[in-house]
Amino acid sequence: MENKKLKWPQGLKKTETRKAVISVLEKTEKPLSAADIFSEIKKNGSNVWLSTIYRILELFVKKGIVNKLSVMNSEMAVYELNQFKHKHYAVCVNCHKIIPVDNCPMEKFVPQIEDDDFRIMGHNLEIYGICKDCAHKSNKRS
Ligand SMILES: [Zn+2]
Ligand SMILES: [Zn+2]
Repeated sequence: MENKKLKWPQGLKKTETRKAVISVLEKTEKPLSAADIFSEIKKNGSNVWLSTIYRILELFVKKGIVNKLSVMNSEMAVYELNQFKHKHYAVCVNCHKIIPVDNCPMEKFVPQIEDDDFRIMGHNLEIYGICKDCAHKSNKRS
């Protein structure tokens, strides 16, 4: 497993809840939704509101320490630590499971943009399909 330790950004106050959100994200192998993070923190006995988690996540996104990935046409957003490493995920349309993709089809893609000075910072890609488990289930049914 990779060692995911976040360098806390300067000027960002360390609160218990903020630290808790980061530690959940440091431990996870896949991106989590705000609700996932919320229930993890709750499990540890903390008394927090889901709205607080959302606010913290938005702040972290703004600070550039967390990536927000929207999946399935933004119905659901998931969050991961910004490792400054490029990654895509495939989503199962049936169970919404998120599976990391090992390669990037856009790597050699040079976008043509009218604005010469436009500086590209990244891109998003939606990959969706049916996961192994769901394919298996529907095979059994038919
Ligand atoms: Zn599935
Ligand atoms: Zn890519």
